[in-house]
Amino acid sequence: RRRMLREQSAGQARTRDGLAIEVAANIANAAEARDAVLNGADGVGLLRTEFLFIDRHDAPSEDEQRAACQDVLDALQGRSAIIRTLDAGGDKDVPYLPLPAEDNPALGLRGIRTGFAMPAVLDAQLRALLQVKPLSRLRILLPMVADVADLLRVRQRLDELAAELGVTERPQLGVMIEVPSAALLADQLAEHADFLSIGTNDLTQYTLAMDRCHPALAARLDALHPSLLRLIALTVHGAAKHGKWVGVCGALASDPQATPVLVGLGVTELSVSPQLVPEIKDTVRRLDSTACQQLALDLQSLNSAQQVRARLQADAAALL
Ligand code: PEP
Ligand code: MG
Repeated sequence: RRRMLREQSAGQARTRDGLAIEVAANIANAAEARDAVLNGADGVGLLRTEFLFIDRHDAPSEDEQRAACQDVLDALQGRSAIIRTLDAGGDKDVPYLPLPAEDNPALGLRGIRTGFAMPAVLDAQLRALLQVKPLSRLRILLPMVADVADLLRVRQRLDELAAELGVTERPQLGVMIEVPSAALLADQLAEHADFLSIGTNDLTQYTLAMDRCHPALAARLDALHPSLLRLIALTVHGAAKHGKWVGVCGALASDPQATPVLVGLGVTELSVSPQLVPEIKDTVRRLDSTACQQLALDLQSLNSAQQVRARLQADAAALL
């Protein structure tokens, strides 16, 4: 079945009633980009650049970063890549970076905040990205954005660096929605961002106030919690006000049980593990988007993630 799904995977995934859903891949390097293409991915929805920074003794140079990102774009054969700026701190430790020890790492300097704390690191990364070709196929994604000020600060720096480099074209610039404030203010963010991508791993952690790595809480850290569904709905509505699209790049996108829910909530891009692209595309092709919308509404009034999953289980035969 896996082989059959893989053979059918290439080409756009549309629901039975014709809604196009982009199914992209989460990757770390060019080898995984090639794997994503083989699995029929429409592009890369999340490149975590932390992988360029870990397992070494110092930060990669601007040129090293440019070359690594260029390799990924080249491997995609015309498809686009969303490359996220460094998400250091919190659960992603980069020991050699001059960041303070934190009492509450998840609530301290992490994501784009580390970029503001270490402007040279952010500048090198933005300069590297501005030199990738073609810029029309590059989308830059900012982690841990809390409000519009974070986004505008990076956009301004991107403009300054582009001017220094003599680059006139601009890549698209999007923000992760992984902090509750960002979901609540999605309409404001969407006014200034080109797209929004929901990081359900962190959005779950911060919404439920449960450490994403806490072993005793693991069973309760379920992104299908109704509170998360409401925040995703709010994000999609906020983005729609400004005609912007919303993707999901957290682990929830790789969960086939969640596909009807996300489609019903109005998410139009799913970024998943490369191996899961065929299965998620197959699921999308079985769905009716109107039925999914009703389902997504109903689920938001349930009390727990268990209830949501039970309902999805019960409805599976009718939905798929
Ligand atoms: C997320 O938080 O859902 C996400 C995609 O980012 P990461 O898992 O890298 O924190
Ligand atoms: Mg995250």
